Amino acid sequence: MTCPFLEYRSETSDRQFDESRAYCEAAKQFIQPMRADICNDRYELAHDQHCEIYLEHADEVPAGYGNTGQPASDLQWLLYLAGDPVIITAALTGGVQGKEATPHLPETPEEIGKAAAEAEEADASVVHVHAQKDNGERTFATGCFQEIDDEIRQQADDVISQHSTPSQARANLNL
Ligand code: SF4
Repeated sequence: MTCPFLEYRSETSDRQFDESRAYCEAAKQFIQPMRADICNDRYELAHDQHCEIYLEHADEVPAGYGNTGQPASDLQWLLYLAGDPVIITAALTGGVQGKEATPHLPETPEEIGKAAAEAEEADASVVHVHAQKDNGERTFATGCFQEIDDEIRQQADDVISQHSTPSQARANLNL
């Protein structure tokens, strides 16, 4: 588990870096790459056992965030409950599955637009969508995503539409 005080920053007030660097929010300073192994709990290191800075600031960690064995998604939820701002992304569609998996899964652009509006109502800021052809096959065709986006724009107010992309490089955008 990553230390809750660890951030990656690509700039300071007067400098910019090509690659973001590890920054400790507890110590308010950038940290050396070797120490970042502790921050990221690599190589059997553990921030809550081996970092003196963490141990000094452990009481500032939001309740429930610790080496509890909880999955990261639960920990993000605990941070949200503790008052940290979060960005919620709702994955609306199945990447492979369709209504054969559950009748509640939106497939058509109209259904996806409606689901986006409902997700927005539930405080999501981003909707992640997959597109499929009429025969149910997955597609990355720009026209299909355009239809989905048009419906999302029409039915939702102000959500970001995040398209699924192929996991492999494909030159033909009409797949
Ligand atoms: S492990 Fe220590 S140095 Fe790294 S981010 Fe946490 S408190 Fe800071």
